[in-house]
Amino acid sequence: MNTTQRPIEKISRKLALGLLALSPFLFLGTLDTHASPAAKLGAYPGKPSAQKGYVSPWSLVREPSAGQTEVIGGAAYGCIAGASNLPDTGKGYVAIRRERNRHYGHPETLKLVKDMGAALSQRTDQLLMVGDMAQPRGGRMESMHRSHQNGMDVDIWFTLAPSPKAANILAPDGNDPPSMLDDSKRKLSSRFGDDQLFLLKTAAQRPNVDRIFVNFAIKNGLCQSIKGDRSWLNKVRPWWGHDAHFHVRLKCPAGSPECKQQPTVPQGDGCKNEVVSWMKKPVIILKKDDRPAPRPPLGPARCVALLKKGTTDGGVQTAAK
Ligand SMILES: [Zn+2]
Repeated sequence: MNTTQRPIEKISRKLALGLLALSPFLFLGTLDTHASPAAKLGAYPGKPSAQKGYVSPWSLVREPSAGQTEVIGGAAYGCIAGASNLPDTGKGYVAIRRERNRHYGHPETLKLVKDMGAALSQRTDQLLMVGDMAQPRGGRMESMHRSHQNGMDVDIWFTLAPSPKAANILAPDGNDPPSMLDDSKRKLSSRFGDDQLFLLKTAAQRPNVDRIFVNFAIKNGLCQSIKGDRSWLNKVRPWWGHDAHFHVRLKCPAGSPECKQQPTVPQGDGCKNEVVSWMKKPVIILKKDDRPAPRPPLGPARCVALLKKGTTDGGVQTAAK
């Protein structure tokens, strides 16, 4: 469990499983296909493959497919052909946990990261830390992530790093950087400052960003504090978890006719009924053993073909049957 997330209410295993059973309905209700309530454990279990034995065949493919870039399917059921790999570090950013091989994406996703790093470097020497993007061909990961499958999603940590070397100390595998909420888990902590606000606003104001997921208490904090232009709050969506990082999802890019675009976010700043209803939800902390054991389908038919293409690895072919 993420040591930065202290339980407020511990619930029984039975109740936890019941809530997990309900999670698909929560999913549909919000149109945000990101994660189940269990994501509050932290999106990054230390050793994802230890999740009740589930091995995603997508994680066994170490290289992107050759040829033209194309996004196929949606964020939670899709893949990407011809993905690009984000360099380890660049102006204003550092990609952490490279050993997970999850820094692939569409060129527009890489451009977003590079542009945000460059924008941040105008105001500070600190670096933004880039977490998971997609696997070389996208597809399902072996962690709590349901999304990040089609190369249009990227996780960015709220905590900045003084250097690439320091980034790995700040975020060793399995131990996330700190939450931006205080101990009540209902309010922003003093860690959330102008740089964090700058990052969210910069991402939200990009036309090709579709939505950004943050913890509902972060959204509520923004609703309470932002003066002047509040139009960018529209894309900042309240969700479970996401109190130490935010998740940026880009719109389907040109040249990918089979990319599945989510419905547009509702109009307005989302600060009235929606965020109020989120703030009434209990903070649920699940135990490690309550994680579901998913055996998700591999993806759309074209993704299954992409998974097998040019791979001779026995494990991949066996798993992809
Ligand atoms: Zn994410």
